[in-house]
Amino acid sequence: MIRIGHGYDAHRFAGGRPLILGGVTIPHDRGLAAHSDGDAVIHALCDALLGAAALGDIGMYFPDTDDSLENIDSRILLRKVIRILDEKGHSPVNADITVIAQEPKLLPYIGDMRITLSGDMGIEPDQINIKATTTEKMGFIGRGEGLAVHAVVLLDNLDT
Ligand code: MG
Repeated sequence: MIRIGHGYDAHRFAGGRPLILGGVTIPHDRGLAAHSDGDAVIHALCDALLGAAALGDIGMYFPDTDDSLENIDSRILLRKVIRILDEKGHSPVNADITVIAQEPKLLPYIGDMRITLSGDMGIEPDQINIKATTTEKMGFIGRGEGLAVHAVVLLDNLDT
């Protein structure tokens, strides 16, 4: 049986932090404010994976009240989510991710993100697509206050 899931995340930009998206550090004057490393690409992806499996959301497994998760590398969370799904027989077929940010330009880093994420998910880079778009300077994203990410995932389950 195949199952689809959607995830969404948004974070505010904050100074004094590295910008990490899709497991890749991107040169920028600000990072993303968060309890974790702020990797909104991975957070949206994890929610899409958990959503497709009907296993809740990232906050249920990794609450922002857990001090041990402070500034945690979100790739650790992604690998844990993949293990949770694997225990139930779910395998990712593909993921399609859209990052909505006025700045910085993300195109030069998308190849590295696909390699990093696919490695953590145990799939091939051509099973992940990442797109970047702006809001034509409209709204909170357009004003550069933060960015948002949508992710859609398809899972296959050979056990069901
Ligand atoms: Mg988040």
